[in-house]
Amino acid sequence: MRVVVLTGAGVSAESGVPTFRDADGLWEGHRVEDVATPEAYEYQPSVVHKFYDARRAALADVEPNPAHVALARLERLLGDDLTLVTQNIDDLHERAGSGHVVHMHGELLSALCRGCRRRMPWSDVLHDYPPCPHCGVAELRPDVVWFGEIPYEMDRILEALTGADLFVSIGTSGMVYPAAGFVHQARLHGARTLELNLAPSEGTTLFHESRQGPAGTLVPAWVDEVAATLSGG
Ligand SMILES: [Zn+2]
Repeated sequence: MRVVVLTGAGVSAESGVPTFRDADGLWEGHRVEDVATPEAYEYQPSVVHKFYDARRAALADVEPNPAHVALARLERLLGDDLTLVTQNIDDLHERAGSGHVVHMHGELLSALCRGCRRRMPWSDVLHDYPPCPHCGVAELRPDVVWFGEIPYEMDRILEALTGADLFVSIGTSGMVYPAAGFVHQARLHGARTLELNLAPSEGTTLFHESRQGPAGTLVPAWVDEVAATLSGG
């Protein structure tokens, strides 16, 4: 059984990671257009750097929740038949034990050099403009996909959706493209589709099945079902 799982902000939110979809529409007091666009970075790079430096440091204050742990178990059950795609830029899937995570929106713990275009693991601050370890140019930016930029690994994701037997969307609003189109892509190629979300999303009716509740409850229960199916139960 080939499975594609997409996780979104709802999964991280249950670990206490703030997201810009919180009630006030702000992300830790910032408007999204002031910290998550290429234009913001051109106009006020220090504001953008300090914002992501703080998000990176705040990773130390959060832990994976049972949804992350269950998806790591799913990887052990399915091996290469699982493609885990996340919109989240934190490292909670990795810390729960997932070995192969497609971070379509980039990662807080990575830097992107505007000089040589290399991506590299990065756990320190960027607001003091450190030189790139590869090319020496002091043009490192957060390796995060901003609004108006193209997400990473779209070819790989679309290929996985094309071959999937099951597509599961967890904790996403279903409103932000291209991820919002994944359910269409999966159905077009014959996959069954399942949504696990705290509340009915904009895209709920597009799925064969939709379950509502906390990811920390729904995901472990669903992975138990997959495990039972695989063992012939
Ligand atoms: Zn460089």
